[in-house]
Amino acid sequence: MGKLDNKIALVTGGTGGIGTAICQRLADDGAQIVTTSLNQEKAKTWKSSQNFDSTIIACDVSSYDDCQSMKEQIEKDLGVVDIVVNNAGITRDGSFRKMDADKWSQVITTNLNSVFNVSHQFVNGMTEKGYGRIVNISSINGQKGQFGQTNYSAAKAGIHGFTMALAQEVARKGVTVNTVSPGYIATDMVMAVAEEIRNQIIAQIPIGRLGKPEEIAALVAFLCSDDAGLITGANLAANGGQHMH
Ligand code: NAP
Repeated sequence: MGKLDNKIALVTGGTGGIGTAICQRLADDGAQIVTTSLNQEKAKTWKSSQNFDSTIIACDVSSYDDCQSMKEQIEKDLGVVDIVVNNAGITRDGSFRKMDADKWSQVITTNLNSVFNVSHQFVNGMTEKGYGRIVNISSINGQKGQFGQTNYSAAKAGIHGFTMALAQEVARKGVTVNTVSPGYIATDMVMAVAEEIRNQIIAQIPIGRLGKPEEIAALVAFLCSDDAGLITGANLAANGGQHMH
């Protein structure tokens, strides 16, 4: 018996570095996996290289209409979603003086508006069922700020404001809402950073290494389990001690 047997879990951006590990872990725990993708070719290759079954839906999470269609498709084909992991995200870095309005709005729309667009589709189904789990993937840089990331830090900090407010609204209905704030994780994005810069980042991490996607996935899986029913409105940092507060 897995801890998430008979649960339907939607993981946005499940084809990415952290998303793949989250999908894998939730599937190992028994959940039926649904994920979104912008790039259908990449999604097909991704699906065929995983050892678990999944449903991939073409959906731009920055579009409310796309998210509404996604919900209709999932409910028609599979049923009511029990778990939502808002994981899709992008970076468009640049110092504030050089940040143009496009970079600002792309990051706010994809990383923050998406959390509204997606969660709004599924909250009613969860409260009616009397059970639900929403986990929002933020970032250490939403907690401490980061040079060159006014857009990303604002979006990621905003996510936790959303978490705390929604957690209060749905707590009595058996739905928990939490934020996970990863530090630097060894995904393709971070491994593509020049080795010298990466070593400078690692030097700032007390445990002396980057995080593993599986470590973020384990935390998400715990928050999605019945064991975590007491935890809601929390922001759980998983950053090797790089930022403590
Ligand atoms: P990633 O490998 O770049 O994956 C991002 C995923 O999001 C991809 O599956 C991508 O799909 C999807 N996506 C992007 N824009 C989308 C949109 N508009 N609609 C639907 N899907 C969209 O990123 P990652 O490193 O795994 O990061 C996952 C999350 O963790 C992000 O929210 C990120 O901010 C956060 N995070 C990462 C780190 C880190 O060190 N990696 C640290 C802290 C927080 P396509 O490939 O189809 O475009």
